Amino acid sequence: MSNYIALPKGVTEETFTKAIKEYRTLLGEDRVRIDPASLQSYLRMTFAESEGLHRPSAVMYPRTVKEIQTVVGIANKYKTPLWTVCNGENEGYGSSSPATQGQIVLDLKGMNKILEVDQELGYCLLEPGVTYAELDQHLKKNKINLWLDVPSASANVSVVGNTIERGSGYTPYSEHFLFSCGMEVVLADGSSLRTGMGGVPNSTSWQVFKWGYGPYVDGLFSQGNNGIVTKLGTWLMHPPPPGGYMPFCIKFPNVEMLGSIMKPLMPLRQTNIIPNACALTSAAWETACANGRKADAAWSLYGAIYGSPEQVALNWSYVSGAFKGTFGGKIRIITEKEAKGDPTFEYRKQLMMGGIVQQETGLDKLRTRGYMRFSPTAAARPGECDQQVKVATRILHKHGFEYISELTVGWRDVRHNIDIIFDRTRPETAKKAHKCYEELLNTFGKNGWGINRANVAFMDKVADLHGSSTRRLNRTIKKALDPNNILSPGKSGINLE
Ligand SMILES: Cc1cc2nc3c(=O)[nH]c(=O)nc-3n(C[C@H](O)[C@H](O)[C@H](O)COP(=O)(O)OP(=O)(O)OC[C@H]3O[C@@H](n4cnc5c(N)ncnc54)[C@H](O)[C@@H]3O)c2cc1C
Repeated sequence: MSNYIALPKGVTEETFTKAIKEYRTLLGEDRVRIDPASLQSYLRMTFAESEGLHRPSAVMYPRTVKEIQTVVGIANKYKTPLWTVCNGENEGYGSSSPATQGQIVLDLKGMNKILEVDQELGYCLLEPGVTYAELDQHLKKNKINLWLDVPSASANVSVVGNTIERGSGYTPYSEHFLFSCGMEVVLADGSSLRTGMGGVPNSTSWQVFKWGYGPYVDGLFSQGNNGIVTKLGTWLMHPPPPGGYMPFCIKFPNVEMLGSIMKPLMPLRQTNIIPNACALTSAAWETACANGRKADAAWSLYGAIYGSPEQVALNWSYVSGAFKGTFGGKIRIITEKEAKGDPTFEYRKQLMMGGIVQQETGLDKLRTRGYMRFSPTAAARPGECDQQVKVATRILHKHGFEYISELTVGWRDVRHNIDIIFDRTRPETAKKAHKCYEELLNTFGKNGWGINRANVAFMDKVADLHGSSTRRLNRTIKKALDPNNILSPGKSGINLE
């Protein structure tokens, strides 16, 4: 019988034992775990595939860049692949399960120092394990008046993890990767690299100027497997003055109104009259978020206006005027006054000012049994958004699932987040969910609609959808930077096997 719950592909038990011995000499037994109990939380999957396909062989907890560099050396020597996570809370996209069986999870949650916060220029430099809640507490404790931009699952999620996954939030700084600035990365050869302006000795602008000099390489380390990110800079927003933040919600009675909502919304987004990524939630999403209280609209649009109080008043007249002009009396406009402390409005108000949300919504509770997030991008055109909703609803219903979605509206794009919620403990239902995702992917692909994030069960297929040239280039880069294929093989479909 094996001493391990899994082994990396092509590595014998004898070789793996030697590797574990070396890892333990470096980190100690406590920080290199192979026992099933310690690995249990890394088997926690929400997607439909069997655990066996994604079982890790061990988990390691390095605490310094130097340790990571040595770990990478040992991994090259014994060809033991490392699946890096900051916190492993990547729910809907695979949590912390490796893309392929037998990888060692490299869990960086112990590297959680907030290295710098600059109030004057509004940025911070973080280690990978820092969560949004920890950064929020640090700002409050030190009376630093800067806003975060949080994803809705904010409290225990790593800022670095979400940013390198190209996640998004709900303030004007919603596009997390866009607002990141400067990385430190350990490469597969064990060397360490600082991107952007970070290579300049004693650089003063590493966290303020993204582009550096020459080719911009940060993208190679986002949704990728070309390096282990050990530090990341990100920008933080100066809050508007008192009276300069106005959240609102507009309720639309019919599903068919989606296209008509996009028409007045997009000019307001592109002129930054509405500067934040608005959330447009479907009735089922809204009902679940409100802990089962039935949604009173087919679509709920949450947005906000920011600036001086005078600008807010003026811009609100444009926003309310645009929607009233299009829909007349068919819609309901809700501001803080009308909301009267409604918990769903309060939740959105918090998110749109980067406030940590601790509470579990009804949607979170539903997801515990199993769920996958299908994440296509739509061009923010009325017809295309309408069409995506129709196609998704038809396919979901065909497989016995409800259409539950939040559309996050960027400047020109819509992130169409669709949750497939099912019961993992029932194999028939799990199979249906898997098939449903597959059909969504194939059909969306045929319409020219790409996917912006995928869970580990579908990374390969999503990479196929994005074309053979991209696959070839990613493979060429991987071969050059990580010829032994030791960093997260399979991530985003990139694997040298
Ligand atoms: C209820 C709910 C709501 C959500 N809402 C949102 C939302 O509003 N917006 C949003 O963007 N997401 C959302 N998500 C998804 C979730 O918040 C993110 O996936 C989460 O930010 C990632 O978790 P993490 O920080 O633990 O990252 P991890 O799981 O640690 O990392 C994510 C991935 O990044 C890679 N990675 C991690 N660390 C490194 C490293 N140091 N170097 C190289 N690669 C690395 C790995 O491939 C890893 O799988 C939601 C999820 C749930 C359950």
